[in-house]
Amino acid sequence: MNIPVRRFDTLILGAGGGGLRAALQLARADAHVAVVSKVFPTRSHTVAAQGGVNAALANVTPDNWHWHMYDTVKGSDYLGDQDAIEYMCRAAAHLVYELEHAGVPFSRLESGRIYQRPFGGQSREFGGAQATRTCAAADRTGHAILHTLYQQNIRARTHFFDEYFAIDLIHDDEGAVLGVLTMDIATGEPLVIEAKTTLIATGGCGQLYRTTTNAHINTGDGMAMALRAGIPLQDMEFFQFHPTGIAGKGMLITEGARGEGGYLVNKDGERFMERYAPNVKDLASRDVVSRAISIEVREGRGCGPNADHVMLKLDHLGSDIVAKRLPGIRDTCKTFMHLDPVDTPIPVFPTAHYAMGGIPTDRFGRVVMPSGDSPEEVIPGLYAAGECACVSVHGANRLGGNSLLDILVFGRAAANDILGFLKNNRYHRPPNQACIDKAYERFARWEKRGDGESVQAVRADLKKAMEDHCGVFRTEKIMQEGIDVIKAIRARIPDVRLQDQSKVFNTARVEALELENLADIAIATMRSAEARQESRGAHSRIDYPDRDDAHWMKHSLYTLQDDSLDYKPVRTKPMSVETFPPKKRVY
Ligand SMILES: Cc1cc2nc3c(=O)[nH]c(=O)nc-3n(C[C@H](O)[C@H](O)[C@H](O)COP(=O)(O)OP(=O)(O)OC[C@H]3O[C@@H](n4cnc5c(N)ncnc54)[C@H](O)[C@@H]3O)c2cc1C
Repeated sequence: MNIPVRRFDTLILGAGGGGLRAALQLARADAHVAVVSKVFPTRSHTVAAQGGVNAALANVTPDNWHWHMYDTVKGSDYLGDQDAIEYMCRAAAHLVYELEHAGVPFSRLESGRIYQRPFGGQSREFGGAQATRTCAAADRTGHAILHTLYQQNIRARTHFFDEYFAIDLIHDDEGAVLGVLTMDIATGEPLVIEAKTTLIATGGCGQLYRTTTNAHINTGDGMAMALRAGIPLQDMEFFQFHPTGIAGKGMLITEGARGEGGYLVNKDGERFMERYAPNVKDLASRDVVSRAISIEVREGRGCGPNADHVMLKLDHLGSDIVAKRLPGIRDTCKTFMHLDPVDTPIPVFPTAHYAMGGIPTDRFGRVVMPSGDSPEEVIPGLYAAGECACVSVHGANRLGGNSLLDILVFGRAAANDILGFLKNNRYHRPPNQACIDKAYERFARWEKRGDGESVQAVRADLKKAMEDHCGVFRTEKIMQEGIDVIKAIRARIPDVRLQDQSKVFNTARVEALELENLADIAIATMRSAEARQESRGAHSRIDYPDRDDAHWMKHSLYTLQDDSLDYKPVRTKPMSVETFPPKKRVY
């Protein structure tokens, strides 16, 4: 098979905020940069981000990056790496102003400064009064950021491969990563894109679960590519459930709704968060609020005919606030629920939202893995940034508004390191042909005809299994069963067949490749979760209800090839300030 080849200095997989921020940095420095995206860039999931991006601008209440750092370390349940967290919080203000200057239409305060709203887990003076740190463009912040970054990239002449699907990484004989095998979705034809460096910025994997706030495209492709290339995934057991997805449907109602003064009630009209987080109530961090809602429902205080959700009340805020600050969620409620939040509470329930885990990187965006004595050996030429990466700044639980920040900060950091790498590595190296052949084989396998199961049937079973066996609350027995169920589902994939073999814009082909990716990530998530015998952040075990720092303050690393788990220490030493030692986490 003679596959056409294109060559660039540097390749970016993914055109979300992470990929585009990196691409902009590189294109502006005159690097020859290509961006591959399976959807048109501005359809990436970043476009759906509602609430905002965190930066201690102190436009509304006093604030500084060090308080932001404290909140992030505490929010991570002390599993976040403190050097990376310090780096991110320090960089935040600069990156937000840079976006403002690039054209992001942030909402404004009376003073003309960037509008900021309070979000969960934000405090002043290291755990004191509520801070107001989330910079917002109404409730369409991600939309504003993604469109601005795309336009700036067009101006900087970034080369885009729109609607190309990345299949697998390509490397040379020494293991240096040299690009990727792709499929042009429009024609179904393969294309090899070679590059001196490759940045994976393929976003999250919310499609692991049946009810999710994530786009249909969030299937963790980049994470699975890394797994298949022998790179372990880090901290996959930590999956965030957003407390306020629309019940039974999953569309997100931003935390900004509570930031603007909305609150949750149970069937008795009780504002129950007062019992779970007496100080900050509805603005406790997401894992805490999601557990509280699940407990209310489990104990029979849920609303509706099946008592299976709670209500988010915004009807006391007045139509002005809702129209000005939350127009997008009002539209969503009208479209999908036929209700107007200005006068009717919204039925909500915790919904799969965000992967804290992912491809392990350092704070320069370089992908690292254990090798010999070193727990963090750099893989030459390979970078990761955004939701697919695990730096780790979010540890066991991400704070709202910190992901848009993460993708900007580490997209830029990775690009800066890539520029250094390109200076020292001027020539393309030949890739290993066997590696290309193997990737091609996986792609070509879907040509196989005959009777078999459909992709949809297997994907539906997989999502249900994850929901049933790896949800908000977990136990040993449920997860052990889950591992068997997921393995059985994966074993069905070789018998799955495409009904429609046509090549032109055949999205069934894309969904088949995505199914393989989801299955690999599902097993990584289940195995890592089953092994961790403690409760920390989003990983909440009924059989091990407490955090166990003595045994478990460490990152998990799951390797696909031998289905094994390994661990590495948390980096507790920040860059320049004192360590925040683990404390009991109360809100
Ligand atoms: C509904 C919703 C609201 C959110 N609100 C907020 C918020 O208010 N604040 C906040 O901080 N965070 C928020 N988040 C989280 C945050 O938006 C995401 O974590 C972040 O935008 C991810 O950015 P990314 O660049 O990593 O990936 P994405 O934006 O998901 O982009 C991934 C890119 O990878 C490409 N891609 C993937 N696989 C392939 C493949 N195989 N081949 C080719 N291309 C591929 C896609 O085409 C896409 O371009 C929200 C998330 C959701 C789902």
